[in-house]
Amino acid sequence: MVLSLVSPHTLNHHEHQDHSEKERPKLLLVSFDGFRWDYIYRVPTPNFRSIMDEGVKVEFVENIYITKTYPNHYSMVTGLYAEMHGIVANEMYDPALNLSFSMETDSVYDSRWWEQAVPLWVTVQKDGGRSGAAMWPGSDVLIHGMFPTQYLQYNASVSFETRVQRIIEWFSAPKGEAVDFGILYWEEPDESGHNLGPQSPLMDAIIAGIDEKLGFLMNELKKSGLYEKVNLIVTSDHGMAQLSPEKIIELDQYVDRDLYTWVDKSPVVGILPKEGKFDEVYGLLADANPNLVVYRKDDIPEHFHYQHNVRIMPILLEAKEGWTIMQNRTGLFMLGNHGYNNTLRDMQPIFVARGPAFRQNYVKTSMRSVDLYPLMCHILAIRPLPNNGSLLNVQDLLSLEPTTSTPTSTHFTVPPKIHRYSYAPVVGSFIGVVMVLGFLVVYVILVTLKQRPALKHRSWEMSQPLLQEDLHL
Ligand SMILES: [Zn+2]
Repeated sequence: MVLSLVSPHTLNHHEHQDHSEKERPKLLLVSFDGFRWDYIYRVPTPNFRSIMDEGVKVEFVENIYITKTYPNHYSMVTGLYAEMHGIVANEMYDPALNLSFSMETDSVYDSRWWEQAVPLWVTVQKDGGRSGAAMWPGSDVLIHGMFPTQYLQYNASVSFETRVQRIIEWFSAPKGEAVDFGILYWEEPDESGHNLGPQSPLMDAIIAGIDEKLGFLMNELKKSGLYEKVNLIVTSDHGMAQLSPEKIIELDQYVDRDLYTWVDKSPVVGILPKEGKFDEVYGLLADANPNLVVYRKDDIPEHFHYQHNVRIMPILLEAKEGWTIMQNRTGLFMLGNHGYNNTLRDMQPIFVARGPAFRQNYVKTSMRSVDLYPLMCHILAIRPLPNNGSLLNVQDLLSLEPTTSTPTSTHFTVPPKIHRYSYAPVVGSFIGVVMVLGFLVVYVILVTLKQRPALKHRSWEMSQPLLQEDLHL
């Protein structure tokens, strides 16, 4: 059911508008890396609480597989699963390009890794808007010929307060120069979560410290008169699981390391077998350890949306929650980690938001992180590129008050405001009846026609032949 409000005439008018004159809604997206959904219940977090009271909160946010930093940050700004946007891990190998990527090297600045998708800041700027990025992963990389209008070169030693001050300056610039869309990234509480483990009592102070940082941001927005104008979304890329030195899977016990190349890090590891060694490596690992899930690339469950990309290796190892995959025990061991199955509660992030576009004091049960992109496009009045999210899934977060935004969506269009809530029960009942009738009809057809050809799995695999050579990762 797609309701279209936008007539061709309206679209033409919109497209021919002088973009520099357009009054644009403002949006600031903030990510506190590794801020697990339940951290706000652990210590007093008055600033998170105040955003929830003044705005919205989502209890369950299903982020994308794998639950690591780079894949999830790129999903937030593209609305795409990792197999679609191409940033499939923090450490990758691309056999078509014969290149390796690591978030810890300058390979990050090679545009080719990022250009399977278009991040929102590029789309905002192509629409005539301006964006400002403070250390968001990928935001200091030239992507499809563009940097954000304003951005900071990544440097972990730049303080949160400095990043906020730059964002405030960009939003407060004179008309014609001010940014419309801001993105702000902070490395904590991820780093402490890795080092201390999320169960450590020392994490309480770290979480309280993040709440103070959020308070600093809110204060700066208030001081500069932006607080009531800017829509503020505070979220994260993933949660954090507690590890234990008792829970280590040592691959050297099962398979000779000369038979394969290891790509990325625990708890989800890509395995590239040496030429002709696929069956041997898979056979040795498949039932090796009850805490290790071993997938052939073709068998990775569809709900992970993690299969159709050349950068996903032929064999994928996934540790069960709390377990660490190592070759042997000589490597670095951490007390907390993420990357596990995205349906695990401990992998899920916080999500709160407030501002003119949002409802007040509203709690939503669940959303997917890919739905954030169409939501942000709606708030910014930007036409979204094709994506895996749906505005319909999250439009109940939006205020009933008219905003200055004009919904112009390619495939998700908001129904008229008056219909959104007052007719909802009627529409819901109608849909329910139609679904029940539809189900009955399909059931009768299936029972009547006992022999039906099996549906072929739609395959749009982009894989290139893998290069079987050593990688230096
Ligand atoms: Zn991390």
